[in-house]
Amino acid sequence: MVNPMMSRKGRPVWQVREALQQLNPPPGGLLRPARTQEQADYFLDSATKNADLAEWIGPTDALERYPYLAAPYGLILAKHGFGTNMGDLCREWIGNVPVMESCSVEDWTEHAKYVSVHLSNGETVDCTRLLLATGLDLVHHPKTSHLYLHPIKGQRLQIRRPASLPPEIMPLSGFGYVVDEGDTLGIGSTFEHSWTESGPTEAGAQEILNHARTMLPDLGDPDIVTHTASIRVTVPGTRLPMIGPLPESDRVWFFTGLGSKGILMSAYLGSRIPDFFNDLEAIPAGCRVATRKDKA
Ligand SMILES: Cc1cc2nc3c(=O)[nH]c(=O)nc-3n(C[C@H](O)[C@H](O)[C@H](O)COP(=O)(O)OP(=O)(O)OC[C@H]3O[C@@H](n4cnc5c(N)ncnc54)[C@H](O)[C@@H]3O)c2cc1C
Repeated sequence: MVNPMMSRKGRPVWQVREALQQLNPPPGGLLRPARTQEQADYFLDSATKNADLAEWIGPTDALERYPYLAAPYGLILAKHGFGTNMGDLCREWIGNVPVMESCSVEDWTEHAKYVSVHLSNGETVDCTRLLLATGLDLVHHPKTSHLYLHPIKGQRLQIRRPASLPPEIMPLSGFGYVVDEGDTLGIGSTFEHSWTESGPTEAGAQEILNHARTMLPDLGDPDIVTHTASIRVTVPGTRLPMIGPLPESDRVWFFTGLGSKGILMSAYLGSRIPDFFNDLEAIPAGCRVATRKDKA
């Protein structure tokens, strides 16, 4: 899901206009019902101030235009929001860049003019710069665990499309999210700050379904096709990505903290990484490297 108006008050995501330029959004948009009258007031205000990004639709018009959707307080139409397949998008971005699959970075040794990267298959690859975008591994790896990062578990379901729903529904966000995949719907997700079970749980599935039913009262009790759990890495406080060289390193960089906005944040910052390599000052102030010691 790409939701340009994701905050509680429905304000534009940080640098969202620049990010959208990289994404070429399909037409249609995304619907976000307000959860309360207070939130509806915020959404109206945000849509009025950001007419290029959003339109406010009151409860009566919402019911007429989207009869399958419960939006008793009205909704915001995020004009450039869309659902997509993240894997396909990443493959498109990667293009012809060589990829080694089933192999991971175990460690590295930094030399004056290059970095030796030690791989799990026993090979060592030398490069002028190493950029780690290894998600949760950054939280645990002994050489990066001092970074100020916080993991949040999320579960997601793929359900068989219930016959009670119309043949096409708009991407929905607000009480979790719903993406129309044709024969199936993708629905998510939980936000778990601590957990004992790293995989999917029954409680997680019920939470996701209950949220989706709040938006789609006709959802019923659908068949679950897949149920997955994964971890998003966030930066507490700033809630922005973190990018830069590891402290006391010139050649080993990392890029993480994309939180729930992986697509928008990688679209915006990913395209700027070559500039950052040449000019540390070009890294937005809120995205610079912070360690746990800095925050103590
Ligand atoms: C349930 C859920 C739903 C989400 N929904 C959305 C959404 O709708 N829209 C959105 O924009 N974002 C969403 N996100 C957030 C998005 O998935 C993340 O922001 C994004 O995946 C972060 O990308 P990343 O590359 O930093 O880390 P990751 O996606 O975690 O990727 C890290 C990669 O590095 C690999 N790796 C790990 N260790 C090593 C190693 N040592 N060597 C080599 N490779 C390694 C991993 O296998 C993995 O492929 C969701 C997240 C969750 C958990």
